[in-house]
Amino acid sequence: MPLDSFGRDIHYLRISLTDKCNMRCVYCMSEDMIFQPNAELMTTPEILRLVNLFAGLGVDKIRLTGGEPTVHPDLLAIVRGIHATGITRISLTTNGLRLTELAVPLKQAGLERVNVSVDTLDPDRFHRVTRWGQLDKVLDGVRAAEAAGLTPIKINAVIARGFNEQDIADLARLTLHHPWQVRFIEMMPFGDVAAFAQDATISQAEIMQCIETEVGPLQPIAEGRLDGEARLYHLAGSQAAIGFISTLTNPFCASCSRVRLTADGHLRLCLLRDDEGDLLTPLRQGASDADLESLVRSLIWRKPWGHGLPDGLIPLERVMSQIGG
Ligand code: SAM
Ligand code: SF4
Repeated sequence: MPLDSFGRDIHYLRISLTDKCNMRCVYCMSEDMIFQPNAELMTTPEILRLVNLFAGLGVDKIRLTGGEPTVHPDLLAIVRGIHATGITRISLTTNGLRLTELAVPLKQAGLERVNVSVDTLDPDRFHRVTRWGQLDKVLDGVRAAEAAGLTPIKINAVIARGFNEQDIADLARLTLHHPWQVRFIEMMPFGDVAAFAQDATISQAEIMQCIETEVGPLQPIAEGRLDGEARLYHLAGSQAAIGFISTLTNPFCASCSRVRLTADGHLRLCLLRDDEGDLLTPLRQGASDADLESLVRSLIWRKPWGHGLPDGLIPLERVMSQIGG
């Protein structure tokens, strides 16, 4: 397992399959977002070559994300290719628009589970947050994923002041009626949505207070326990967890075990720092597996301890969809 210089085992890889998306969420990208030309993005054989290399290094968990990973034409082949390396912990983060048709084939290809982003249960507000999204299609997608066994289902919600703070309680109540983990993600500043994110972010403390006032007390599931990056609670009478991913007010850097591969083949060492290493250029120039492996090891070694937001260091070069959230 590659270690970073702080002794953290880096065994979890998130891969952005594409920077493209069929929605335009206000906190993620501008409506007139310009995407990278496909020639600059990793091809399917390039993705699978790197996956093989990371599997050889000890990576045992992969999340496919983007952009919107379900708009990638080779998604099923990529999942099959990852599964063929022996990695079985394969998950997908998706906006859910295409899950109804893809859930069963994804399960058959070897996908273990999905996280679906649902920021509000009100169709009009959903359309306003996502600009192009249709809530009913997404909820059908969640149900299709559940029926296909892509479980446990996790619902990701970003709360933006002025857009969907009135939905916090209803999202939390989902855990009373479904075995879905609902995770509230604090909005983070990136690139040209940084100013919006800084103005509209709502902290874990505010979200918790809202749930406790409107729904009921939140009980910690295991004090301080992290499920991935989420701190878990539940409402009385519910077995399903409510998670908080609070990079701004309660970061989880000490237990970070991940690196990200951007759609253009850069290894991004910390979500919130622009420090990256280009793997795709050497790969296209004929680097051997041994060359690439030592490049990856040296990049992982220089993974920073944590993000620099408290010091005012905002990652400006890419937005979330380009990094792979
Ligand atoms: N398109 C897929 C989706 O929306 O689930 C996968 C990619 S998206 C970038 C991954 C996650 O990042 C989503 O849950 C989304 O809500 C979240 N996200 C996007 N921009 C964010 C921001 N500025 N701060 C916090 N989370 C953000
Ligand atoms: Fe697309 Fe996901 Fe970004 Fe929304 S959060 S614009 S669905 S990549």
